[in-house]
Amino acid sequence: MKVLVTGGAGFIGSHIVDILVQADLQVYILDNLSTGSFTNINPGAVFLKKDIRDEDLKGLLARERFDYVVHQAAQTTVANSLANPYYDCDVNIRGLVNLLEACRLSAVKRIVFASSAAVYGDTDSLPIDEDCERHPASFYGESKLTGEHYLELYYKNFGLEYVALRYANVYGERQADSGEGGVISIFLNKLLAGHGLTVYGDGSQTRDYIYVKDVAAANYQALFARAANRSYNISTATETSVNELMGLLSQLTKQQPAVVNGAPRDNDIRRSVLANQAAVNSLNWQPTYTLQAGLCLMLRDLKPGISV
Ligand code: NAD
Repeated sequence: MKVLVTGGAGFIGSHIVDILVQADLQVYILDNLSTGSFTNINPGAVFLKKDIRDEDLKGLLARERFDYVVHQAAQTTVANSLANPYYDCDVNIRGLVNLLEACRLSAVKRIVFASSAAVYGDTDSLPIDEDCERHPASFYGESKLTGEHYLELYYKNFGLEYVALRYANVYGERQADSGEGGVISIFLNKLLAGHGLTVYGDGSQTRDYIYVKDVAAANYQALFARAANRSYNISTATETSVNELMGLLSQLTKQQPAVVNGAPRDNDIRRSVLANQAAVNSLNWQPTYTLQAGLCLMLRDLKPGISV
């Protein structure tokens, strides 16, 4: 079975590739290395340096005849989408449509799409389930939501199966400081360097932090699950404030950092926690790492030999 992973040289994509290679599937990575890295590339996969917006994507998929596509490549940050909405739209919408056309014409069986909790925007009804109203607060959230609509219409009009996974804040090994879950990576690197931490606002804002290997496992399950053609939250259903996160990190690293509270950031959602019952019921999946367990693994990766 042949699987194409776009963004497979990135943080989450590379962990998905690892699982697929381990499961003995024939794995191809398509990545332009704009934020991804050669060092993330699993040697058991074929690497294609290419942009999802390339004209000849159709030709590539027609030649290779992939059975499945896992689409992770994207413009991934809220801040960049607000600074450069054209680029966000170009990669996240036009790039997706280019890929969907190539999938349709080469009879790909199913596409699994990395969506985001950013599709919901700020909402008072917590935990957020998949039926909650969606009012994205950024162009990034909007481009992910529009992406989901394209998937639905490609399914309805052309029968291309899909599963959209709305990730909560993902953290783990190989994470850069910039992504949606980037606060963990930023804090850990600062703590390990003995530096102080800056918190935007009073630190009471909450997020649902999910470990990257749990997200990779959800992608694997979504490839083969019977309950396709819909969106699922991929989350822990646990709410953690930035202050709680700092407490846990300073306990694990045995550091007491100086903390500076900066002004709250524009478009920062105050509270976020996502229900995950639909994915648990239908994808035969559940998160298996507590925040503490995931942080310990990340810490050991960043500082081999550390005792946690
Ligand atoms: P990442 O930046 O590490 O990975 C994205 C990968 O896509 C990179 O390897 C990059 O080089 C590649 N890429 C970007 N534009 C491309 C293009 N035009 N053509 C080909 N390749 C391109 O980010 P990530 O955190 O691993 O995110 C993976 C996916 O998950 C993204 O779709 C992101 O929006 C989504 N997501 C991430 C989080 C999170 O917390 N990290 C949360 C919700 C959703």
